[in-house]
Formats: sequence, structure tokens, C-alpha cells
Amino acid sequence: MTDTSILVIYTGGTIGMVQDEQTGSLIPFDIENIDEYIPEFRRLDYKINAISFDPLIDSSDILPEQWLEMAEIIKSNYEEYDGFVILHGSDTMSYTASALSFVLQNLNKPVIITGSQLPLGVIRTDGRENFISALEFAAAKDDETPMVPEVCVFFENKLYRGNRTYKYNAENFNAFKSGNYPLLGESGVKLKFYKENILKPNFKKLKLHNKLDSNVGILKVFPGMQASFVEAVLEAKNLRALVLETYGAGNAFTKPWFISLLKQAIDNGLVIFNVSQCIGGSVEMGKYETSRQMKEIGVIGAKDMTISSAIAKLMVILGEEKNNSKIVARFIKSWVGEISE
Ligand code: ASP
Repeated sequence: MTDTSILVIYTGGTIGMVQDEQTGSLIPFDIENIDEYIPEFRRLDYKINAISFDPLIDSSDILPEQWLEMAEIIKSNYEEYDGFVILHGSDTMSYTASALSFVLQNLNKPVIITGSQLPLGVIRTDGRENFISALEFAAAKDDETPMVPEVCVFFENKLYRGNRTYKYNAENFNAFKSGNYPLLGESGVKLKFYKENILKPNFKKLKLHNKLDSNVGILKVFPGMQASFVEAVLEAKNLRALVLETYGAGNAFTKPWFISLLKQAIDNGLVIFNVSQCIGGSVEMGKYETSRQMKEIGVIGAKDMTISSAIAKLMVILGEEKNNSKIVARFIKSWVGEISE
């Protein structure tokens, strides 16, 4: 046995489901009995402890409070463990990964989030491989330094930067993609690490950004969108920041009513960020006439950030910052590789 130790944080999701012996229906498993479902556990040569959420949650029910709960667990166990594995439903995994990447400032240890499409209690489950490989990535060190000191998503055989992912398939085992950032690693016969893509540790002390403000929104543009709908969104009570999901390289329609509604909202203090509906490529405001006017009235291009990253980052920034130009300045800067600079 090595002296490596991993803490598993079990939050819920499909991965934890097993068949109830009496009724045959799927119920959440007790992590203490993990080796009944994954006998290979006994052969891993490091110490593994686990903490379960109570109650366990389907990730569709996740709230910012639970992101902070995960971050607090990591912080209070930080010195004792070499890495952390979070078992989580796949539906909102990219949001949780993004949020944790911003909340855990100066993270120097691996936080690997994984789940599965089929429950652990089902014969063909992808959960077993996902869980074991996530543990292996979390435990991997080069000398005494962790190989992946950042928040990652591991799914099928791929290790992604968490804040660059999105869930793109509801059925395939290969459920995630990272359109704008290459893989950090892969599991095959051996674990592969693509070091040039992985953040370097900064050896500073871990701190939490632990005040999240959820007064944010997403408005996805589509052909035929009505002024009354846009108006209703922009007038939402307490809305502080809006992510406008636009076409292609950041384009939306040029109708005067649209530009004037956005301008009015910006003049009234709303900060609006332009994120593309595309999963790869970057927003380039001003490239086409259809984004030039938005640029002129003060809509801010979010380059190649994902929607989940933009939303989570805004919650963190708004929790700490009231001044709009400071909000923008913090948003467009890369914190942990979520945006290309
Ligand atoms: N609805 C489930 C969840 O996100 C799906 C999954 O676990 O993959 O918790």
C-alpha cells in the first residue's frame, strides 16, 4: 500500500444506482459497500475514504449551495488527501465542474468528477470503469506533485478540463465533449497525460470564493424571437448579468427593437455577455454587422467560453463585485484556463 489517499465525495446521480434485492427497483447504493459492486477496489493500493451527500441528489436538482458544500468538504480535507473524486450525475456535471474550478482558488490537487450513463448495479455499466479510472487519475503523481492539479471531468476514457466541457449526448457512454480545449489525458492500456494541456500547480494556499450570487440568466436567440419575450427577460427582478446565447461567431438579428432593448437594459445597469450557441470556435464581436451594433452598445464578447462556465463564473464574480467594469474585467480574464486569452 502506498501512502496516497483519495477522498470520494458521493453526491448522487445514475452512477450510484443499484438494484434493490427485494423489489428489483433502482435505489442509491451505500458507498461503504462499494467493493460489492466493484471488487477491484480491494486491489487499489491507496487509501480511499468516502463522504456521501445526505440526501443523495439527481444532479438536475443541484444548487449553488451544493457546489459550496463540495468545496467546503474539499477544503476541510485538503491537507489529508492527495486527490478528490466526485461522483455526480452527468446532467449538470459541466456546471458543477465549472463552478468548482472558480470557487477553489489555488487548487493544487486533482478534483476529478465522474458519473455514468448506466447505474453501477447494471451489468454493462460504464460506472465501474469511470470510477476506477477517475481514482487512478486523482492518485497519479510525478515525484510528489499531482499530475492533474485541476478540476476535471472524466467520462468514458477521456479526461477533460471540467470548465471546458458540455454534455452533448444523453445515451452514449461518450457523453461529453470539449469543443475548445484539448484533452488532459486518456485511459487506455496505460493512463496518458497530455502535460502541455494541464495547468501547473502554483503552490499557493487553497482559498474559497464562497459567496455566489445567482441573479444571472441565459437568453438564447432564435429566428422569430419576439420583442415581448426579450423585454420580459430583461425586466426580470434582480437580474444582474445576462448571458446572450448567439449564433456562430456571436451574431444576432439587427432589428432596431432588439438593439434598443439591450441598450436600455445596459444603461439600467445590466451586464450582458455574448456566448456562442456553437460548441467550438469563438465569439468575435464586430466581425459581422450582426454583432457590431451589440459591441457598440456595450455587450461583452465571452470568446470561447462555454455557457456553463460563463454562468458559474458570473455567480462567483457577482458574489464579490458590484462595479460593472470590474465585473467585466474579471470575467474576460482567464482564471483557470476556461477562456482563451
Ligand atoms: N439525471 C441523472 C443526473 O444527472 C443522469 C445521470 O446521472 O447521468 O443525476
